[in-house]
Amino acid sequence: MRLTSEDGREGWGEAYGPAAVTAAIVREFMGPLLIGRDPRSIESNWELLYARSLDYGQKGVMLAAISALDIACWDLKAQDAGTPLYRLLGGAPTQSIECYWTGFYFGGDEPLERRWEREARECLDQGFRAAKMKVGLGVQRDAELVASVRDFLGAGVKLSIDANHAYMPAEAIELARRVEGMGIHWFEEPVSPLDPEAYLQVKAQTPISIAGGECESTRFGFERWFRLRALDYAQPDICACGGISEGMKIATLGSLTGVHVTPHAWGSAVGQAAALHFYAARPRHPSTLTPESKLIECDRTENPFREVIVDEPLRLAEGRWQLPDSPGLGVSMRPEAFAPYLVT
Ligand code: MG
Repeated sequence: MRLTSEDGREGWGEAYGPAAVTAAIVREFMGPLLIGRDPRSIESNWELLYARSLDYGQKGVMLAAISALDIACWDLKAQDAGTPLYRLLGGAPTQSIECYWTGFYFGGDEPLERRWEREARECLDQGFRAAKMKVGLGVQRDAELVASVRDFLGAGVKLSIDANHAYMPAEAIELARRVEGMGIHWFEEPVSPLDPEAYLQVKAQTPISIAGGECESTRFGFERWFRLRALDYAQPDICACGGISEGMKIATLGSLTGVHVTPHAWGSAVGQAAALHFYAARPRHPSTLTPESKLIECDRTENPFREVIVDEPLRLAEGRWQLPDSPGLGVSMRPEAFAPYLVT
């Protein structure tokens, strides 16, 4: 989504979810509210949009639209300041952040083991030392597949599993027990995102860290998860949870109970850049003199919206994203590349 300022400069944002719905919300409702306002007054702009949509919004596409507008405002503000966004948000101690390879998806006619063996080789060849695979095909099959991928990647690679809330608590607990000895970094969305208490049930029965939160929005939504201690890793999506402004509030809230907030990042080049700038500027929690290194999601499925809509995709070297050094989000868009997909 493009936000144009009075002097013709452009800020870019992204909303998670159906583009035509978000476009209608921005065109018919939120856009007109912002016309004539200062894009640098991000906090008051956010509050205006949230307050005006609160009675029928709060989550989902309404928050995704606010997220896109918020990210675009931050892009413009950092361009104004002549600095990469992560510096405006607090700065980063390193010039790169380790990524984990998100892949190992279901589907296709080929046996998964055969395809995933090739994918594991590619993951290692590209220098990744962390990866995440899908589970959700039933406890027995999942356990076999996790064992295979662990074998393909070797013991030195951090391996997480993601069920996309496929399971009932009893099934998730059973799977956790079956893979406990395989060095699992985290178990993501084991159960329904509508039921934080179910996460607690799973968490109480396994030493594996529990992750989740990509379906949750705003500090108000995450507060319950943190109060219950239902997560070890919270994963707001910056393009869905309310944007960078809200992501920072969620991260601060999470720090009160030692939860590390690491963004879910699954969108286009714009969404990836927003997640990276946000994450680069957040401290690692819980606080320690010897913090575990940060790990950010890097989806490796084929997606033209990551590679071809910008002049330069984020630089990936040895499984690490380099922080962009140009002002703002650092994305230089190629409108001609996404013109065929444009929804207005
Ligand atoms: Mg996930």
